[in-house]
Amino acid sequence: MNQKASAVQIAPGDNSTAAFDIKRIRADFPILKQKVYGHPLVYLDNGASAQKPRPVIDAMSEAYETYYSNVHRGVHWTSQRSTEAFEASRGKVARFLNAASDNEIVFTRGATEAINLVAAAWGRKNLNAGDEVVISHMEHHSNIVPWQMLRAEKGIVLKVVPIDDDGNFLVDEYRKLLGPKTKLVAVTHVSNALGTVVPVEEVIRLAHQKGALVLLDGCQAVPHMAVDVQALNVDFYVFSGHKLYGPTGIGILWGREDLLNAMPPYQGGGDMISSVTFEKTTFKKAPHRFEAGTPAIVEAIGLGAAVDYVSAIGFDAISAHEHGVLQYATEKLSAVKGLRIIGRAREKAAIVSFVVDGIHAHDLGTIVDRAGVAVRVGHHCAQPVMERFGVAATARASFGLYNTRAEVDALADALDEARRFFGR
Ligand code: PLP
Repeated sequence: MNQKASAVQIAPGDNSTAAFDIKRIRADFPILKQKVYGHPLVYLDNGASAQKPRPVIDAMSEAYETYYSNVHRGVHWTSQRSTEAFEASRGKVARFLNAASDNEIVFTRGATEAINLVAAAWGRKNLNAGDEVVISHMEHHSNIVPWQMLRAEKGIVLKVVPIDDDGNFLVDEYRKLLGPKTKLVAVTHVSNALGTVVPVEEVIRLAHQKGALVLLDGCQAVPHMAVDVQALNVDFYVFSGHKLYGPTGIGILWGREDLLNAMPPYQGGGDMISSVTFEKTTFKKAPHRFEAGTPAIVEAIGLGAAVDYVSAIGFDAISAHEHGVLQYATEKLSAVKGLRIIGRAREKAAIVSFVVDGIHAHDLGTIVDRAGVAVRVGHHCAQPVMERFGVAATARASFGLYNTRAEVDALADALDEARRFFGR
């Protein structure tokens, strides 16, 4: 196997500055010291899930080792301490998104649950047969299927904004789809399959002109750019903690407080009620009315630590670094014989999807894995976009704040190796 892949993973182009010390950042992620098949791990699957820095791991261990308990209901010290840490995380996420209030932050299991929550709670109450929900051609399945389920239940109409051959969101086509029956626009902020950054300011402005609400799926945006829900003037924003260097099992629904309080609960159970009798139950206000049952306590605390971690580095530095890596990867991979990049939108974030002539994406993924390089292969839970480009699957390198140009070199070398292996 390729020996170059085991070389040092920081290149001169990854120039550390005082604001962004790549060596120090990489040292924060214990897994990056790992070897895979004798090669240093080159982890380029951050779009699926990002690795965890030491402060996140430590915050979660500390919670379990020193103060863990259930939240909101105990009078004892551990419960009080857990509740404080859990609610402090809510505050951290509120500041991270520049929410107007901590009450606007609902903890969910992830983005998928957050979108299902909006579809079930807001959608069931506010949408009727013939009402229209607009999504785009590059949505993750989690922002397609909940609306299809609502279509089956309520007879709503789903409209899909097309994209061009480079993967750009077509604003003019979008404008034509909006009308008096449009009630909700639910689109991704950044495409997980193509890396396209959607012009969300324009999307929101146009939707609001028609009186429609806007939900943004921020899964692939929040790890790469600062998001200010008030400046965006959006109505709902969702993301998953595990793609933001936090744990799995925790995600966020942000919604405007008035909207959340006008929505019926999604699930019933403990911790979401004000009072219960057999005749009548009254519910707490948001966010608690949407958090029935014991929440993912330590995961929420871990997410708070992840938010602290990225905030301390800052998105100016993170996005400058990642754009450098993305640009380098785009040039480097374009030079690989037979490789075609799928998705060359004008504005992109951290993702390069590609196919190589005559080699199935799964074979590519398996061979580069032997060089220690982890990329995702498949349809990326975005089958309609694969169909749009006439491919069953792509290989996808998705970058995080710890990735380097030297790791891109390792990927390119491993791809050359795969080409030679298949005689291409
Ligand atoms: N939306 C986008 C754009 C994604 O990339 C993903 C995950 O890949 C999701 C939604 C679903 O996230 P989760 O599986 O964490 O709920």
